Amino acid sequence: MKAITRQKAPVEIEELLRGVSSVFLVGCGTCATMCRTGGREEVAEMAARLAASGKRVTGTAVVPTVCDALDREALAANARAMEQADGVLVMSCAFGVQMLALYTAKAVYPALDTLFMGQEMSPGAFTEVCVQCGECVLGWTGGICPITACPKGLLNGPCGGARKGKCEVSADRDCAWEVIYRRLGQQGRLGLLKKRRAPRDFSASPRPGTYLVE
Ligand code: SF4
Ligand code: SF4
Repeated sequence: MKAITRQKAPVEIEELLRGVSSVFLVGCGTCATMCRTGGREEVAEMAARLAASGKRVTGTAVVPTVCDALDREALAANARAMEQADGVLVMSCAFGVQMLALYTAKAVYPALDTLFMGQEMSPGAFTEVCVQCGECVLGWTGGICPITACPKGLLNGPCGGARKGKCEVSADRDCAWEVIYRRLGQQGRLGLLKKRRAPRDFSASPRPGTYLVE
């Protein structure tokens, strides 16, 4: 599972960097590379764009995984170029931006918006697979998440609006609950659907999320 990101509009990045004359660019070799939002190619494009708009790009680095504390070492090799910059434009997920803020006293700016945790289902098409709800129900839904696969996040069966197996919210997608029904049927486990499930307990996934091992 990866952090799925989208590049911010050029006008927003321009606004973020208003008054900043020199920047160091950091890309990510993992999720942002997979999303084509912060890999080598995109970092090079961003550097060219910023240079064309009059910014001084003191350097760029695409480190293996920005959100991994180990990448602090990878960035150390670029300490001089980072030091010469007014700020650091980070082309990674928001987790990576926050990690980078721990490594440097420089201002950090996100170049991407983090959309969700998901996976690439086909080239260039990303789907959210889990919102970390804190009460995983995959055991009784045939391994299909009704919170992310159903736009209404229903936990007790379909809304009744599906047409020919397609979701009433978007005809592009299958009704999650019809898929769950078929999957459980194939497994001989349809009896699971007779049990009424409690509504989702949002206190199970508090924000900010914290968990202490006892
Ligand atoms: S039920 Fe909750 S924890 Fe399980 S996959 Fe769905 S969102 Fe994630
Ligand atoms: S049609 Fe199916 S997937 Fe769509 S909102 Fe209703 S239950 Fe959820």
